[in-house]
Amino acid sequence: MDTHFDLIAIGGGSGGLAVAEKAAAFGARAAVIERHKLGGTCVNVGCVPKKVMWYAANLAEDVRHAPEMGIKTRLEGIDWAALVAGREGFIGGILDFWNGYVEGEGIAHIQGEAHFVDAHTLEVDGTRYTADHIVIATGGRPIVPPVPGAELGITSDGFFELQEQPKRVCVVGGGYIGVELAGVMRALGSEVTVVALESRVLETFDPIVSETVVYNMTQDGIDMHLPFAVGALERRDDGIAVIGKEHQVLSGFDTVLWAVGRRPNTEHLSLEAAGVDVLPNGVVPTDTFQNTNVAGVYALGDITGRAPLTPVAIAAGRRLAERLFNDQPNRRLDYDNIPTVVFAHPPAGAVGLTERDARESGERITIYQTKFQPMRYALSHKGPRTAMKLVCAGDEERVVGIHMVGDGVDEMLQGFAVAVKMGATKAQLDDTVAIHPVSAEELVTLKDPHPES
Ligand SMILES: Cc1cc2nc3c(=O)[nH]c(=O)nc-3n(C[C@H](O)[C@H](O)[C@H](O)COP(=O)(O)OP(=O)(O)OC[C@H]3O[C@@H](n4cnc5c(N)ncnc54)[C@H](O)[C@@H]3O)c2cc1C
Repeated sequence: MDTHFDLIAIGGGSGGLAVAEKAAAFGARAAVIERHKLGGTCVNVGCVPKKVMWYAANLAEDVRHAPEMGIKTRLEGIDWAALVAGREGFIGGILDFWNGYVEGEGIAHIQGEAHFVDAHTLEVDGTRYTADHIVIATGGRPIVPPVPGAELGITSDGFFELQEQPKRVCVVGGGYIGVELAGVMRALGSEVTVVALESRVLETFDPIVSETVVYNMTQDGIDMHLPFAVGALERRDDGIAVIGKEHQVLSGFDTVLWAVGRRPNTEHLSLEAAGVDVLPNGVVPTDTFQNTNVAGVYALGDITGRAPLTPVAIAAGRRLAERLFNDQPNRRLDYDNIPTVVFAHPPAGAVGLTERDARESGERITIYQTKFQPMRYALSHKGPRTAMKLVCAGDEERVVGIHMVGDGVDEMLQGFAVAVKMGATKAQLDDTVAIHPVSAEELVTLKDPHPES
């Protein structure tokens, strides 16, 4: 194999594959170095397996609700092994696709762990590779906090290795991974407890999202302990005990899942050999063109600490390739108004500014919001709460933020994100004829501003 390339991506995840793929499409000689499996976190231990589990969890919920609409059925149990086998088979197909695709596009796939020798040279298992452009796209991994007994817990990576369904699980962490995996396990029938440092889950989201998600999780029977700082895990006769720093004890768990954040994979890269700056938390800082402090070395995706989402890594990678190899010197990703969804039960989503962030801008802010139970649950004794909020700025009421929880918001948000990106105003939403009867129609029929606006 030739060992000199126009571009080498370190990491064959969402960002690395995207930049190499696009570079190759523009005729560049591109290589991807991957130490594990192509597809990275998203395909192997992230979005894809998580979404399969979420679909299964939704089906289980639907079966529980079915008798309310006269459908004679009942949930007899979950064949966890069959679900996991099906999921892994699906992922296997994606991996086969990527392996074939990379080869077919003429992208060199170098298997192994890369580290820098200098700013244009990498070494993998004793072989040196050089490139004009090197892209660091090494992603991150789950954090396990340094508390006594921490090894008794698993992480999201371990969750996807579980061959049996946990019966009693404690999820530590109220970020999106904690909320999602807690919801999946609860809907599939596990007893679930959630503890988190913060007084609400999804702390970075607008409060309407956090509060509604907590309401729905509680109603689903998840035992929420907020705030709760974990000081230790202990093995006891009845299972694993989670000990709080205030000496609170929650016990009897067969599984404890750490979902307390992720740390960038920078340790083994020898960044110092290339002179690339790295922050104490492992983040490689870049400008908005993905440039690091060293010419010819770039970083993108989770490693940059910005919006850790697959489409963000992909979009940044594609734009970087367009800038480097397709004569578009100003091409870069706009990090504003990135839509994001939390696959809770039901899902939550947001695009743009929270109410608090919008108010910090100093502009006149007007809020429109609603909470309701959708028709889907009209015949149910109980159903999750739906909530929607529009954050509007200026006298012309530009829609600068949309925050939602409810069935279908995961699909709904993409189109509304286009409107926000285009600078739509409240009046333009109102001028759009509603679709009836769907939850989304609320977003184009919201009447009175919230009194505290
Ligand atoms: C449980 C979970 C659920 C998620 N759900 C979603 C979701 O629903 N939607 C969404 O948009 N995002 C989701 N994400 C986030 C998403 O997976 C990441 O944002 C995305 O994968 C980041 O892409 P990346 O290219 O930066 O890194 P990664 O996809 O993590 O790829 C980095 C790759 O680099 C490799 N690597 C690291 N160091 C080296 C080295 N020295 N040499 C060679 N290879 C190396 C790693 O093995 C890895 O394959 C989820 C993440 C998790 C953990």
